[in-house]
Amino acid sequence: MSERAAPFFCPYCGDEDLRPNEQGHGAWECAACSRAFQLKFLGLLAPATPGNSTGREDT
Ligand SMILES: [Zn+2]
Repeated sequence: MSERAAPFFCPYCGDEDLRPNEQGHGAWECAACSRAFQLKFLGLLAPATPGNSTGREDT
């Protein structure tokens, strides 16, 4: 339960008065601007390929 990601600020007005929305699963609502939004985990970023980061360095 506690592993669920929680936003610290409203992405629309920046207020901190956020509370879970009834939609569940990452849904939050902002009491300041009365907006409801949902966080979605898109996946992990691809790790940087080792040894292939010197493409821009022409020496
Ligand atoms: Zn807000």
